[in-house]
Amino acid sequence: MTTTDLIIIGAGPGGYRAAEYAAKQGLKVVVFEGDEVGGTCLNVGCIPTKTYVHSANFAEARERMAAVVPQLRQGVEGILSNPNITLVREKARFVDGHTVEASPSGEVWRGVNIIIATGSETKIIPVQGLDDPRLVDSTGLLALESLPKRLCIIGAGVIGMEFSSAFQRFGSDVTVIEFLKECLPALDSDIAKRLRKTLEKKGITFKMKTAVQNLADIDADVILMATGRKPRVQTDFANAGFEYDERKGVTVDENFETTVKGIYAIGDVNGRQMLAHAAEMQAIRVVNHIIGKKDGIRFDVMPAAIFTSPEAACVGPSEDQLKERGIAYTCRKSFWRANGKALAMGDAEGLLKLFVGSDGLILGCHAYGAHSADIIQEVSVLMCKDTTVGELADMVHIHPTLSEILLAAAEG
Ligand SMILES: Cc1cc2nc3c(=O)[nH]c(=O)nc-3n(C[C@H](O)[C@H](O)[C@H](O)COP(=O)(O)OP(=O)(O)OC[C@H]3O[C@@H](n4cnc5c(N)ncnc54)[C@H](O)[C@@H]3O)c2cc1C
Repeated sequence: MTTTDLIIIGAGPGGYRAAEYAAKQGLKVVVFEGDEVGGTCLNVGCIPTKTYVHSANFAEARERMAAVVPQLRQGVEGILSNPNITLVREKARFVDGHTVEASPSGEVWRGVNIIIATGSETKIIPVQGLDDPRLVDSTGLLALESLPKRLCIIGAGVIGMEFSSAFQRFGSDVTVIEFLKECLPALDSDIAKRLRKTLEKKGITFKMKTAVQNLADIDADVILMATGRKPRVQTDFANAGFEYDERKGVTVDENFETTVKGIYAIGDVNGRQMLAHAAEMQAIRVVNHIIGKKDGIRFDVMPAAIFTSPEAACVGPSEDQLKERGIAYTCRKSFWRANGKALAMGDAEGLLKLFVGSDGLILGCHAYGAHSADIIQEVSVLMCKDTTVGELADMVHIHPTLSEILLAAAEG
């Protein structure tokens, strides 16, 4: 048995970022990866889907995915070739709170600290006909070699909406079935509705407030199950003794430490914020905690984007959530159609809602429209620095840019 400073289980954005940063701090790290390095994000998530979003047709999307994914994977292999890192290309299972066994070799490693970064998997809802050969999850959809004529997507969350937008553009006849009243529940419902209407005008059929009972009733060539993801917990977690839940994931505190000291869980497996950038920043926090360094990472300011066409993005609570929580706010709106750059680009569809507290502090911002993710990133930075709307209104923005949409909202 070999002892090391840090064992990391999983080499997705959480795991490889933790390994890279820990190795830089001089820790000896062992990373276990049972599949390709890069995790869901690089192999079957963020990156491949964005090649679909940014390609004109299905053939081009597949070609770009086939080029971009291995290129980025090589980059991660490079990160993990640091002399302080040992990459074990096997699955890991807990023997006890400090010991992990590799499968199938049976090699045993002991870690002073352990980070679980095993990610998540598709959540399948219990409907009839799950053995239907037309049914795929997001990974299966990305593996399709030919464009489906009729695609039905169950679930209007981020994954469902992004694929609906891309496949409609490629020429599929797309129908989205959603149980809830509105798509994208984390997004401001006003913005979500406008985005859905825009996509409807482009030709996507939305069946809202509709529950799928039996897949056999669906008239489509391919059915995508996009009903969310669940943390990837393993039965051997019980050997380590920390608290976890099959549905909610591993219980962690503000340093992402589990209920057993020295064992941490980052990224999708803790079920907090299932986003690649959240996993990466949680990785940094954990390593800082291990080496006793304080950081100023603001996990309460977590921007997110939905790469439909046009894209949508948000940071902080939506107007619906502010109302629910009884928080006093004002909402300042700004439209893409009033922005010179947007008009010049021919992308005049979009709305930004900036929420301001009674003390003037920026509480959040939700938007849809071309490059809204970049605008929301600016708001995130301002929120991290507790900026007031008055201070934002005093900041010079380049003309003509889409960032002036934010400035216009701040000026009221
Ligand atoms: C279709 C899709 C699109 C997405 N788009 C975006 C996006 O645009 N932006 C965004 O921020 N997020 C996006 N996400 C979410 C993002 O992919 C995840 O939040 C992110 O990958 C989580 O990182 P992670 O490190 O926690 O886990 P993962 O990336 O899932 O990595 C976990 C790794 O652990 C390995 N593993 C699991 N168990 C073991 C074990 N016992 N032993 C060894 N290895 C193990 C797995 O093989 C995997 O490589 C998307 C997800 C999907 C499915």
